[in-house]
Amino acid sequence: MPGLGCTSADHETQVEIAQPGQYRRKRPQVECMQGSKRVVDNAHRHPPRSFRILDVAKVATLIAITMSDPKSSDYMNGSCFCGLIKWKADVSKITLSAYCHCTFCQRTTGGPYVHTTHHPSSSISFTGLEHAQSSEWKPRKHKKRCGECGAPFASYSMDRENWSVWSSGWQRDHDGMIIGWERIRPTCHQFAGTMQMSVKELGELPVYEGYEGKSKRLDQN
Ligand SMILES: [Zn+2]
Ligand SMILES: [Zn+2]
Repeated sequence: MPGLGCTSADHETQVEIAQPGQYRRKRPQVECMQGSKRVVDNAHRHPPRSFRILDVAKVATLIAITMSDPKSSDYMNGSCFCGLIKWKADVSKITLSAYCHCTFCQRTTGGPYVHTTHHPSSSISFTGLEHAQSSEWKPRKHKKRCGECGAPFASYSMDRENWSVWSSGWQRDHDGMIIGWERIRPTCHQFAGTMQMSVKELGELPVYEGYEGKSKRLDQN
């Protein structure tokens, strides 16, 4: 079965800028110790509008993101939650993009389904992979999880030399949305036999018993 990737709404709504390794909350609470007293620095929490230096930083970051916008190229970046493990993929080489409802994806991520993309190993490169925990969940298939933050981010098939990347790790914009989403948009629901919600709730994509084009389609007579 293919890979997985839990997209936690909790994380996404808290993310202001989610470049790999840079996760900032919308209302950062800065704490410091004065003697034995714990003090919350409110100036950091609610700075006066006229002194919002961060706005300048935001604009600069936005310009930087725009200039390197993956939507305008074939490459997209991603990382685990803490940013220790990063990847860069040529998304024009993706061989599958689907919402996967298999029990492996459900049980290893905690979600009812995941969005997974398949990448030939020649089209994706990783840094920090030595920090990943690897478990062989099927013969010669290894599930990868960050050893630091614990986030599951991919699965690797040795036989097919293929990476399944779970979509939670792709680089986000200021609103927490995946930059270049259109490039990796799912084309179907797969392994729908163990779907934990009705097809109606999941929109109008085709629904398959297993892989798209290789198994029975379930939403047609
Ligand atoms: Zn991590
Ligand atoms: Zn799956």
